Amino acid sequence: MTAIVMDGKALAEKVRAKIAEDVAALGGLGLATVLVGDDPASHIYIELKHKAATAAGVRAVDVRMPEATSEAELLAKIDELNNDDTVDAILVQLPVPDHISEDKVIRAVAPEKDVDCFHPSNVGELALGSAVLIPATALGVMEILQEYNVPLAGAEAVVVGRSDIVGKPAAALLQQANATVTVCHSRTKDLAAHTLRADVLVVATGRPGTVTADMVKSGAVVIDVGINRTDAGVVGDVDRAVAEVAGMMTPVPGGVGPMTIACLLENAVRCARLRRNG
Ligand code: NDP
Repeated sequence: MTAIVMDGKALAEKVRAKIAEDVAALGGLGLATVLVGDDPASHIYIELKHKAATAAGVRAVDVRMPEATSEAELLAKIDELNNDDTVDAILVQLPVPDHISEDKVIRAVAPEKDVDCFHPSNVGELALGSAVLIPATALGVMEILQEYNVPLAGAEAVVVGRSDIVGKPAAALLQQANATVTVCHSRTKDLAAHTLRADVLVVATGRPGTVTADMVKSGAVVIDVGINRTDAGVVGDVDRAVAEVAGMMTPVPGGVGPMTIACLLENAVRCARLRRNG
């Protein structure tokens, strides 16, 4: 079997076209991004987000602060953006430098402007199934599954990885879609015993080759969230040979990555609606 390629790039273009319409209907939208320090990967991510935002008609407020910025200075900047009526959504690019508490930063962003959905009150809403804002990568995974009409009710879903930004929210959303969800992590004994049961397998470990072809059930739907820069280029967490066993699979690049950025903008639209309509 050669898996159907789940084209996240094409879907992201459709989603972004819809976002552009929503932004126009809202009469514009302000997204503030805050980048502290010189991390090269963070600079690339911010550029990609700005490009997508601008293309959708979103006004990007680009805040850059030096590596030596103190925690108090960053928190004051976030407070200023929280109180700025022209800013609907705020994104602080993580990681922040080591001398700044990530937890304090996450808690400082006003929940209704928290486009990344990292604030504990938004995480709580997600756990309760009442979230308006949903972490972008997990939302991207769900939108890809929906686009390809993957049945989730009653399906065995296995999520490999339990990070706050990917694994946990993806597991919560799959469960809310009535899948039977197993979450695996680095201490899981016999990972293959779990992955082989999966009708839907979501892998987010940051480790290339976490899942190999012998660990996947024939015809399974495999969502590879991983983005790993290697000498051989960008690869996911799932071995490419899995495509010979799976029924459908996301590519890397061109799978979940583009959807993450599109879904971030969807959240920005939701933030604007929340603030303007209550
Ligand atoms: P984290 O490092 O925060 O979490 C990794 C998770 O994987 C942990 O729960 C860890 O377990 C688990 N894990 C690590 N090794 C194994 C293993 N061998 N077997 C089973 N579980 C394992 O990573 P993120 O969730 O932030 O990111 C995961 C990947 O997704 C990365 O490649 C990242 O670049 C990518 N990513 C892609 C995005 C996109 O837009 N496509 C967006 C965000 C991330 P434990 O908890 O026990 O340590």
